[in-house]
Amino acid sequence: MKKPKVVILGAGYGGLITSKKLAKLLNAGEAEVTLINKHDYHYITTQLHKTGVGTASDDRITLNIADLIDHHKIDFKKGKIASVDLNARLVRLESGEDVQYDYLLISLGFGVQTFGIPGIKEHAFEIRSFRSTKKIFHHIQKQLVAYKEDQDPSRINFAVAGAGFTGIEMIGELIEGLPALCEATGVPYEKTRIISVEASPTLLPGFEKEAIDYSTELLKQEGVEILTSTKIKEYNGVQIRIDNGEDIPTRTLIWSCGVKGNDLIDKMGVPTIQSRIIVDKDLRVPGFKNVFCIGDSSMFMKDEKTPYPPTAQIAIQQALTCGDNIVSAIRGQQLKSFEYHHKGSVASIGDRAAVGKIGKLTIKGAFAALMKQVIEMRYLFTLGGPALVFKQFFKRWHSTPTKVYAKH
Ligand SMILES: Cc1cc2nc3c(=O)[nH]c(=O)nc-3n(C[C@H](O)[C@H](O)[C@H](O)COP(=O)(O)OP(=O)(O)OC[C@H]3O[C@@H](n4cnc5c(N)ncnc54)[C@H](O)[C@@H]3O)c2cc1C
Repeated sequence: MKKPKVVILGAGYGGLITSKKLAKLLNAGEAEVTLINKHDYHYITTQLHKTGVGTASDDRITLNIADLIDHHKIDFKKGKIASVDLNARLVRLESGEDVQYDYLLISLGFGVQTFGIPGIKEHAFEIRSFRSTKKIFHHIQKQLVAYKEDQDPSRINFAVAGAGFTGIEMIGELIEGLPALCEATGVPYEKTRIISVEASPTLLPGFEKEAIDYSTELLKQEGVEILTSTKIKEYNGVQIRIDNGEDIPTRTLIWSCGVKGNDLIDKMGVPTIQSRIIVDKDLRVPGFKNVFCIGDSSMFMKDEKTPYPPTAQIAIQQALTCGDNIVSAIRGQQLKSFEYHHKGSVASIGDRAAVGKIGKLTIKGAFAALMKQVIEMRYLFTLGGPALVFKQFFKRWHSTPTKVYAKH
């Protein structure tokens, strides 16, 4: 009998964990599973801000996919997906290759929301992928070197738009890593400016007051200029125009004002909101019983009106249910409804501080920073057991030279 073909699009949190679950559940020869990803490495998205400032080596942020999967059960194919035809059950790669499937998982992650603000798409930097954040790192280095030549202050003013979870982590990393980059290039750190621009009245909108007050105070102590209730109107690569008409001279604007689903989602011919597919309780795409969608490409509703926010936490939990459901679908068994269990969230501010909430408890400071590391380690454990946790931890002190380079 012909083996069913399962194709997984994207080896991020959702895709990779699903492939691990399938490898565990499927009997030998029960199905052919192919995992397709743009690159041959998986990047730890929740740590990308570190790549942007060079505070973590590349081999701590990127992991070779081939080392993470069970080759007896999963085939890995490196390729960029160009389109998906859900009616023809066909995935087309940019290389021109077509891949047929019986069951499909769409886990293609996120894209960046620019809200049509002039100049953002063209000139701002994105914390979207390993390559996009590596580009920030190279750009900062280049600006510091150039500043020594022309003393143009726009080169050493670093602005982050959006002071939500990711924006605060990026600011924290600039505080952590910029002094060393300045020292290496001979630029006095005191001359640099770190500017946080946020449209809401506070940093970390939606967080507990205690967490907001703590992070605001900490950032102020570190000399960060905080512009809340401030909207960016335009950016031309050299200066930001804000809504009171003032200009902020900067050649580095890091955009962190929200995410949407992957651009490919809008071309799949199914209803979407913010480029995300609203999935049913079993994580399937409405109208296609053989197609699943999880992570940032999907929208799973908490109730009739509110979706759960896209996080690694929900992507991982969905992946575990999705693995079960794909196997059940192959075996003709009943599928499980997905249930989300929120465990809390912790935003780092550099390596030594963090803020967040675990259960009902608001945590902050060094203890929260430790909890953040525990969360990261738990993810590594799910991905590769104690061996991977140990290997990655060891790389703090003994990292190998950069293996993956960003395109400029
Ligand atoms: C800086 C930062 C910090 C964060 N911190 C946290 C945190 O502390 N806690 C938390 O829960 N969440 C956090 N998040 C959110 C979290 O990272 C995402 O929700 C999570 O990565 C979603 O997983 P995913 O599998 O949907 O997508 P991703 O992990 O983004 O994976 C998508 C994969 O698809 C691949 N892909 C995309 N397009 C194509 C294509 N055309 N062809 C082939 N492959 C493609 C990508 O290369 C990638 O490997 C953070 C995000 C950022 C940016």
